[in-house]
Amino acid sequence: MVTHAFFELLKQFFTEPATNLFPVRMAPKNIHRTLKAVESGKATLNPPVEVPPNFRGKLEYDRAACIGCQMCIKVCPSQTIEFIPEGRKVKFYISRCTFCALCTEICPKKCIRMSDQFIMANLDKYGDDMIVLDSGNFTTEANTKEIQKEDERLKRAPETLQKA
Ligand code: SF4
Ligand code: SF4
Repeated sequence: MVTHAFFELLKQFFTEPATNLFPVRMAPKNIHRTLKAVESGKATLNPPVEVPPNFRGKLEYDRAACIGCQMCIKVCPSQTIEFIPEGRKVKFYISRCTFCALCTEICPKKCIRMSDQFIMANLDKYGDDMIVLDSGNFTTEANTKEIQKEDERLKRAPETLQKA
C-alpha cells in the first residue's frame, strides 16, 4: 500500500539537505579535496550561520573580575570548573561542559558568560582552545551596576531575616 510516508521518502531523494550550509553548501565527501578547491578558487566557504539570541556557546571568563567564591564550581553538574588556589581563580575544561549556563546565573560578579562560538571540535580535549583561563575584561558597566545591586541586597539580607 502506498502511504504518505512513502511519498515523503520519495520527495527526500530529490530535496537538497536543509542543513550543512557551513562550511560549504553541501557536506563534502573529502574535506582535503574541498579545501584545495577553496584554495584554488573553485569552491567558496560559507560564513557560519547567525546564532539565535541567548545562544549557549563556548564559555567566556573574565578572570580579573572573579573573586574566587567558587559558587560556579558548586553548581556545575559536570565538573567543568577547577579552582586555582594561587590567586583564587578558576579555569574551565570546555570538553566537559554541558552548556547548562548555571554557572553564569550563579556568579555574583557576572564574570562568566556564554559566547556565540559553536565551533569547538578538537582532537585534544585538553588543548589550549579547550581550556578557558581568561577571555579578557568583559564585565561591563551594566554588569557592575547589577552586581552592586546584588551586593546591596545581600548586605540587607541579614536584617530582613532578623525581621522575619
Ligand atoms: S555551563 Fe553548566 S556545565 Fe558548563 S561550566 Fe557552567 S555550570 Fe558547568
Ligand atoms: S562564581 Fe564567579 S566570582 Fe565566583 S569563582 Fe566562579 S567565576 Fe569567580
